[in-house]
Amino acid sequence: MDEVECVVVGAGVVGLAIARKLAQQGREVIVVEQAEAIGTGTSSRNSEVIHAGIYYRAGSLMAQFCVAGRQALYAYCADHGIPHRKCGKLIVATTAAEADKLESIRAHAAANGVDDLRAIDGAEAQRMEPALSCVAALVSPSTGIVDSHAYMLALRGDAEAAGAAFAFHAPLLSARSEGEVLALEIGGEMPMTLGCRLLINAAGLGATAVARSIAAMPSELVPTPYLAKGNYFTCSARAPFSHLIYPVPEPGGLGVHLTLDLGGQAKFGPDVEWIDELDYVVDPARAARFYPAIRKYWPGLPDGALSPGYSGIRPKIVPPSVAVQDFVVQSPREHGVPGLINLFGIESPGLTAALAIADHVAALAG
Ligand SMILES: Cc1cc2nc3c(=O)[nH]c(=O)nc-3n(C[C@H](O)[C@H](O)[C@H](O)COP(=O)(O)OP(=O)(O)OC[C@H]3O[C@@H](n4cnc5c(N)ncnc54)[C@H](O)[C@@H]3O)c2cc1C
Repeated sequence: MDEVECVVVGAGVVGLAIARKLAQQGREVIVVEQAEAIGTGTSSRNSEVIHAGIYYRAGSLMAQFCVAGRQALYAYCADHGIPHRKCGKLIVATTAAEADKLESIRAHAAANGVDDLRAIDGAEAQRMEPALSCVAALVSPSTGIVDSHAYMLALRGDAEAAGAAFAFHAPLLSARSEGEVLALEIGGEMPMTLGCRLLINAAGLGATAVARSIAAMPSELVPTPYLAKGNYFTCSARAPFSHLIYPVPEPGGLGVHLTLDLGGQAKFGPDVEWIDELDYVVDPARAARFYPAIRKYWPGLPDGALSPGYSGIRPKIVPPSVAVQDFVVQSPREHGVPGLINLFGIESPGLTAALAIADHVAALAG
């Protein structure tokens, strides 16, 4: 059996950031990816927003990794010439009751280390964004957007420059412990058995299945997966906004928000649709719920302007009845399998947080 020091399963943004970090520490790294290329999963089916870190539960991994990851990501984008823009976002209250919630959002954000939110009244919001209708808003200047594919290409380039190798069409099928070594069965075009001393399970939507395929992994520590699809609608009209626009969150979600890509094209979403199996088709009928929600803050949205865009699927590890989940990073201390680190539930803000997640995993790897 051939042996390498580290295997990373999954070449999404998180696996790439981890492979880069481990390789730059001087470790021997192979990334095994079942698809034909990097970033074909959730990492290319998201809003491409660099989140500030406003809403996450204080002290959670999401809160910590979002703030640290965001700072690292802006620095990384500047160093590597990755297209991005710190365009800022407005959280808009369209009723007096919503306006009452803004102060608690600001205080919560400050407790997470996001202390740059600024409260403005409806008139100032309208000076910033003349097409906007709201009674008050919070400005988040540190929110931005990034070209996620350019970001992932740069991570891959760094990893390869530091000696990491990539195997595509290479699904991890199963693994078993042989003393300190994990013996991996890899399928696909060139099936093989490969030994490693460190196995990072960064398989995104496949992470729970990967964990279940590892013989010594206690099954009670593998969370039950749930799938929450997020549908996007694109806007054929030019949306007259330069900031991202988010309503005050409602129970269960962030509300139908407007994000922009680097070309200025607006998209709305993602909404929340619980599904039983992977399915990325956007049902055009869902637009009926988007129009009234968007018109609360953009009354000028023309009829017929929305078209089905794309969708992404959140790798949930809590059922619909549980509002909040956190990232789960499991090391041998939790599950007892030498050399195994599992990452579960890496939904938003995983794109923003990837560099901080990678630092954390490298520290756990010792
Ligand atoms: C609708 C939506 C919107 C989002 N918006 C944002 C946002 O604006 N900002 C933000 O910060 N975050 C956002 N996120 C979250 C972010 O996209 C994810 O957290 C991040 O992309 C997760 O990356 P990953 O590498 O863990 O997973 P993935 O990108 O899914 O990568 C996992 C990889 O593992 C591979 N794989 C799976 N099983 C196996 C196996 N057995 N063997 C080999 N390979 C395998 C898959 O093919 C895939 O390539 C959003 C998520 C969703 C769903």
